[in-house]
Parts: sequence; C-alpha cells; structure tokens
Amino acid sequence: MKKRIQKILIANRGEIALRIMRTCREMGIATVAVYSEADRTSPHVLYADEAYYIGASPAKESYLCGEKIIEVAKKSNADAIHPGYGFLSENSAFARMVRDAGIIFIGPSPEAIEQLGDKTKAKQLLRRTTVPTVPGTDEAIESLEEAKRIAESIGYPVLIKAAAGGGGKGMRIVERAEELENALRLAQSEALNAFKDARVFIEKYIAAPRHIEFQILADNYGNVIHLGERECSIQRRHQKIIEESPSPIMTKELREQMGEAAVAVAQSAGYTNAGTVEFLVDEKRNYYFLEVNTRLQVEHPVTELVTGIDIVREQIRIAEGDTLRWKQNEIRLRGHSMECRIYAEDPSNNFFPSIGTIQYLRSPNGVGVREERGIEEGNDVSIFYDPMLAKLIAYGENREIVLARMIRALQEYRIAGVITNISACISLIQHKEFYKGNINTGFINTYFGDGFPQNISDEEYCVSAIAAVMLMENKRNSNVQTSVQQVHSSQWKNKKFTEYR
Ligand code: ADP
Ligand code: ADP
Ligand code: MG
Repeated sequence: MKKRIQKILIANRGEIALRIMRTCREMGIATVAVYSEADRTSPHVLYADEAYYIGASPAKESYLCGEKIIEVAKKSNADAIHPGYGFLSENSAFARMVRDAGIIFIGPSPEAIEQLGDKTKAKQLLRRTTVPTVPGTDEAIESLEEAKRIAESIGYPVLIKAAAGGGGKGMRIVERAEELENALRLAQSEALNAFKDARVFIEKYIAAPRHIEFQILADNYGNVIHLGERECSIQRRHQKIIEESPSPIMTKELREQMGEAAVAVAQSAGYTNAGTVEFLVDEKRNYYFLEVNTRLQVEHPVTELVTGIDIVREQIRIAEGDTLRWKQNEIRLRGHSMECRIYAEDPSNNFFPSIGTIQYLRSPNGVGVREERGIEEGNDVSIFYDPMLAKLIAYGENREIVLARMIRALQEYRIAGVITNISACISLIQHKEFYKGNINTGFINTYFGDGFPQNISDEEYCVSAIAAVMLMENKRNSNVQTSVQQVHSSQWKNKKFTEYR
C-alpha cells in the first residue's frame, strides 16, 4: 500500500500558502501553517488547521529558519513540507534536512535542486544535450582578463549574472569594454551580499527577447511531460508582472520543439515533481535555455486554467509516489489565460514598494476570473516580505476575450491603504502593441520609460469610500449607504476599455 500524506506543513506565507492549503483541503489533507510576528493575523494562519509561531518578522528569523520549521513539522506530526516559492523552496540544504528528518519534501530531490538551482551547473549539464543555451560562459568568471576575452568573443552588450541568482536580482548589463571591470566587481559583491555566493558568469545580452517558459511534471519513475508554455515578457527589473498562456507567438511546431527541450533538461538532471524550464526567444524565434526553477512558480495558475490540471495536487501525488496520470499526447490546451501580479508598489515612482494598512479591499469576481490573494482588509503590508499582494487571473475561450475580461476585472479591483500597480496593469494591457501580442522583455522601458500616469481617480475613490464606510459604521446612516453606492457605480460606468479597438 502506498503511503498517503495525511498532513502537510506549508513553509511559506501569503497567497501561495493559502493556495496550497486549499488544494490540501480538497484532498482531505490537514494543514499546518507557520508564521512570523508580522503575520499573526494573516489569512494563511487563519485558514490552516494548525498554526505555529516561528519567530520575528524578518524572514531570516522565521520563514528562512529551516531548523525551526522542521521542528514544527515533527511536533505537529506533519508527513510532508511544501515550500511554496521564494524562501527555502530552492534551498537544497533545506530539502536535504527535511529528507533526513524522515519528512517528505514536496519538490525535487536535493541533488536535482543543487544541479539546476545553480545557473552555471545547469548550463554545464546541458552540454550533453542538444538544448541551445544563451551564448557565453557556463563556469564562474575567475579574472578580469577572462571576462574581457569572453565578452569580446560573444560581443557587447553582455550580461553579468549571479550563478546563484533569482527573483531578477544579481544581473548587470555591460554595454562597452570600459565598463566591464567596474561592473564585474559590483556584480560579484552584489551576488555575495544577496546570495552569499560571489560567483558570476557572462551571457550575451539578447536584445528585446521574449521570456517563454515550460511547465513540466515528472514522477519518480522517469516519466516527464510538459503542460505547455507561459509567456512572461512583461517585466520590470527582470521580474515578471503579466503572464499568459498560450504565448501569442506559439505555433504547434515550436511548442513541440521547446517542450521536448524542456523535457530533455528535466531528464538530464533526474528531475522529479513540478518545475519550470525558462527560455529566451529572439526575434527570429530562436530559443535559448535560461534556467530551471525547481519549484512551483508564481504564475502556475495560467497553466492550470488552460490544462484543467491542479498542479499542487499533482505535486502532492508525485511526492506520495504516484505515477503521472497523463502521457504527453493526452495533455490538451484549451482557451487562453492571463495573470496580473498585484504589487504594493508605485509604478509612477520607479515601482518603489508601498507599505501601510489595507483600509479597503474589494475583489473582482464574475465569469472567467480567479484571484489568489494573501491579504485581507485590516492587514499590514510591511517592509519584511515581497510586495506581491495578490494575483488576478482571467481566462476564456481566446486572447481577445481574456484581454477585455482582465481589464474589466482590474477595474473592479479596489485596494486602498497602499499604492498598487493595478492601474499600471490596465495601461499595459490597453496598449495597442500588447493587444497585438507584440511584447518583449523591454516593453515597459520602450513604451512606459517615462513612468506610468498616477491614477488619481482611484485614490479619490478609495478615500471617499473609506470615509463613507467609516461614517456608516458609526452612524448607521442610510444616506451614507446611498453615497457609497453612488461612488461604486459611477466608478464602474466611467471607465472605458475599448479604446484600442
Ligand atoms: P517566478 O520565477 O516564480 O516567476 P519570481 O522570479 O518573481 O517568480 O520569484 C518568486 C518569488 O521568490 C518572489 O517573491 C521573489 O522575490 C522570490 N525569489 C526567488 N528567488 C529568489 C532568491 N534567490 N532570493 C530571494 N528571493 C527570491
Ligand atoms: P532569475 O533567476 O532572476 O529569474 P533569469 O536568468 O531567469 O534570472 O532571468 C530573469 C530575466 O532577466 C529574464 O526573463 C530576462 O528578462 C532577463 N535576462 C536574463 N538573461 C538574459 C540575457 N542573456 N539576455 C537578455 N535578457 C536576459
Ligand atoms: Mg528566472
């Protein structure tokens, strides 16, 4: 008899912790939350069957404390730990500690994380395959002379990247030879600071590429399939904001080729569980392997909506020792899906993070809309964690319908108390080149280089709505009720989303 997991500790917070717990509940699996000081009243804590305090607000004292988390897993009799994304999810030492404690790590083996989590090691592994990689080095740079030689052989501009990098951090573009020495020094010290690992390597800086990645699933018996692609080219600071599936440029042939390459990457590392193989695609549709994310990805919902597969459920089943439930030719992609990451940040001020208390919150709803959110009204958005508040996902039969649906849903979204990127997402999606699918990783710089307009009406709306709600609570005054309704309906009527047609 196969051992079924009865209880899972989720070593994460925010929307992803909640998202994982929801699937656990559907599967009849009990959930254990861990939380920091700042998260005492967070939704993931309230949703879980059990919750344990693990330390002060800085992640180093809580969500990054592997020992404490494993201790809680033992104390609560959890069979397994799901790491989510970020935090300890790509930490091979943590995965090993979990395994050594006799607990199931819901993810790949520590060996596979080690191989693929390091961008240089991953590229080295691919020497044995025919998968194309971005031109450049696949070993850490030892000296300035070496860096010069490599940069000259591949041609400027080049990109210096941290071997251990992630989250868009640890990258430096070098346009000219004169800048190389300084950039190399800075990149190394940044990498050491951010990742405790100074190793950097050099890649050709590909101009205006698309970021297209493949979701893969692999069981413990050598079966690997892919679930199609996600286009994630709308980025700021090398970090994704809007993702969609399928990619507007995808053809059946290219999907087959890139999908096979993604599967080959997974096989070459003996990869198991869910993972993502990222590629850059240039204007001529040449594709180059970028890296593997050895975990559940932020944007996995768009794949779930076009495949109908709950990726977290499959992660859990694979970890229990099940074989994959589908062969590649049984995977059907249906319709279109798009995700906007809702960040507490100011698009009109270089995406500077915004902190504060969520004063008012109203979620979008209706046909073809899914929201993944880790905050509620009254929660604080602090400096301690990533400023992503929620993800809004729209789906429908084709891209055109999804674009209108996403804009409609973004317009319904109301968050007051912190500045968000909601109106910037609307501006992006309304852009005529976005509408045509003409996007690349330079899209924001090209079309919004001067920043995004500040959305005053949203602020005004929220302030008046909060004032009205507060008055209503205090006085139970029916006139105020009417004024709240007026604000709501006027906001909905005034917005136009057809200007690109
Ligand atoms: P994805 O790769 O899933 O599309 P991101 O690259 O934005 O998403 O990373 C997911 C989350 O993990 C973000 O919260 C990001 O800040 C964080 N993250 C990823 N890798 C690292 C890392 N090496 N160091 C710090 N934070 C990271
Ligand atoms: P991370 O681990 O931070 O996600 P990636 O290697 O996946 O790092 O790169 C993140 C983003 O940085 C890519 O989606 C792309 O926009 C940009 N990027 C990375 N490497 C290159 C390159 N060689 N040329 C151009 N852009 C790149
Ligand atoms: Mg990446």
